[in-house]
Amino acid sequence: MPLLDIRNLSVSIPTSEGEVHAVRAVSLEIERGEVHGVIGESGCGKTMTGMAVLGLAPKGARIVADRFNFDGEDLRERAAQLRGRRIGMIAQDPAAALNPVLSIARQMDDVIRAHRDLPHRGRHAEAVELLAATGLPDPERVLRSYPHQLSGGMQQRVVIAQALATGAEFLIADEPTTALDVSVGAQVLALLRKLVTERGLTVLMITHDMDVIAEACDRATVLYAGRSVETGPVDAVLQSPGHPYTRALLAALPDAAPLGARLAAIEGSIPPPRSAIAGCAFASRCPQALQQCAATPPPGRNRAAHRWLCHLPEDAA
Ligand code: SF4
Repeated sequence: MPLLDIRNLSVSIPTSEGEVHAVRAVSLEIERGEVHGVIGESGCGKTMTGMAVLGLAPKGARIVADRFNFDGEDLRERAAQLRGRRIGMIAQDPAAALNPVLSIARQMDDVIRAHRDLPHRGRHAEAVELLAATGLPDPERVLRSYPHQLSGGMQQRVVIAQALATGAEFLIADEPTTALDVSVGAQVLALLRKLVTERGLTVLMITHDMDVIAEACDRATVLYAGRSVETGPVDAVLQSPGHPYTRALLAALPDAAPLGARLAAIEGSIPPPRSAIAGCAFASRCPQALQQCAATPPPGRNRAAHRWLCHLPEDAA
């Protein structure tokens, strides 16, 4: 049984101008010990999917799913209880995640005290161990510091140590390297992979960056307009993508263009979140669209564990 098992999740938010379909039909299966990347453009529903798993969808949001389970428990009823105990979060901007006026010692202690019944000395030793586990070279000095005295990479390691302090086995990392420069971001990804191996963690990695998927993930799911359109092992998704949208994303990468050539762009835009979509959401932008694409939902295609939704036959991919 997958640790996270989502089938046809939709999250709709009522507004005075009509319902916003933030997530329309997302399916995700994440096995224990896996780093699973969820990728797509802004507005594709990836962050809202993560918020729904954490039980933090906006007030009044309507959550509907065929399955929405974490380790067999229905997240519609149990997300708030699981958050901070079994499910943790690594935020995009570590500076915003840390309190600027409290020392790291105080912030680590607050988290450990909320989750562990330890005396002060034990909590201090735990904080030192967790900071060391994230690769911070001098944990005692870090504990005496305030967030502004640490670099962005060090702050992100503290945020990861706080997530570990909760004892959570499943972490949702929402664009964890976006606020960092490239080399520091690569170190943070390597750290997450190391922690997955050493501590048996499972990670849902939300990103808009194909390089993060390639570097850090075992499997990936591509979202478009609130729907999961392709999923599979990272090598299969990146090297032989089945869905035209995934192919367009890969073609738009700087490395895909010859030196000096213009980057390929995906013409058009995502359907507005209030619109109804009858067929394939990508139909208005797809260079291979068929006559039936706009009106008829695309069928599932697959090569073993690599699956996608498209009217084109498998051998056209
Ligand atoms: Fe393109 Fe049609 Fe496939 Fe959608 S279903 S990705 S429009 S070919």
